[in-house]
Amino acid sequence: MGSIGRSRWIRGLLLLALLLADLPALASSLAAWRVTRQGQLELRTAPNVPLKAFFEAGAAGRGPRVWIDFPGAPARSRTIRGSGSIREVRIGRPDPATTRLVLEFAPGTQLDPTELRLVGTAPDRWRMELTGLERQVTLGLGEGDLDGRASQPWTARAPFPTAAAPLSADGLPVVPRGRYSVVIDPGHGGPDPGAIGIGGLRETDVVLDVSLQVARLLQARGVQVLMTRTSEVDVDLPPRVSMANRSGATAFVSIHANALSMARPDVNGIETFYFPSSSGSQSLASALQGRMMSISQGSPNRGVKQGRFFVIRRTVMPSALVEMGFLTGAIDAPRLANADFRRRMALAIAAGILDFLGGRP
Ligand SMILES: [Zn+2]
Repeated sequence: MGSIGRSRWIRGLLLLALLLADLPALASSLAAWRVTRQGQLELRTAPNVPLKAFFEAGAAGRGPRVWIDFPGAPARSRTIRGSGSIREVRIGRPDPATTRLVLEFAPGTQLDPTELRLVGTAPDRWRMELTGLERQVTLGLGEGDLDGRASQPWTARAPFPTAAAPLSADGLPVVPRGRYSVVIDPGHGGPDPGAIGIGGLRETDVVLDVSLQVARLLQARGVQVLMTRTSEVDVDLPPRVSMANRSGATAFVSIHANALSMARPDVNGIETFYFPSSSGSQSLASALQGRMMSISQGSPNRGVKQGRFFVIRRTVMPSALVEMGFLTGAIDAPRLANADFRRRMALAIAAGILDFLGGRP
């Protein structure tokens, strides 16, 4: 006890020495914040500071929370009473060099973490759309002068962050906005339901749901997305391929789920196919397989394989076909029937695509 107390005390003294040595740099870089009645969080900071934003889903008895860390410590910690679906706002000091702004939402508040992005609108201005909160904040909240001047001069040469690090909740890689386009091909559709699994689970429904979510996630990251179908319609394979080849897209990903036989619930697992006609197909397939396995504990890794499926054989860009699990498998089927698992699968597939795009010149 005594020695812990003493080493703490020494560490405290060292921190104090550091604080005294470098006081100006340690002032909070958060100058002003505001939550508008339209559900936008707006921030003014010192120019060109690195921010980190985080999201935590709600749990029993409490709602979700969003917090942002700013370099430099606040003058004092404080709690501000909220309004509408924002229960309270806290300004804290998680360590002596950081200001933490926490938005605590009321239990039951629905926030989609994939829609939450902290966007830099100027070197000292930031905005986050709290999608879904519209008209639920009855009073604007805030502190400081949001329209004030930056406290330090900045030059156009200074690095200008267009967006902060991605939110921890989805952890999706960041790629340059507007540079890439991707074709997403939800397998089957219309009169062709694809595989039918345990409990009547239809491949066409599962793959369309996941595909639409993948498309939204990529679009939110500034990737243009073309879909071979967006509803329950039947599109033959050759039109899917010619549409993809005409588009000049950077990559093509076909999304499927496997099935074997109702008598084989023991067969489960995830696999990704590529055809070695285009360089890059194998690394796209590997990125997808790795990401899918990371959210599918217990489901066997059936690996990255060469396959001769028409859509990956005839597309001219790097392409891959994912099989997200077996609709007839005792492990995979209940997961694929679960909306939350499908959401995580969509995040994994989007992450795999972004991994691949990010690794390209
Ligand atoms: Zn299929």
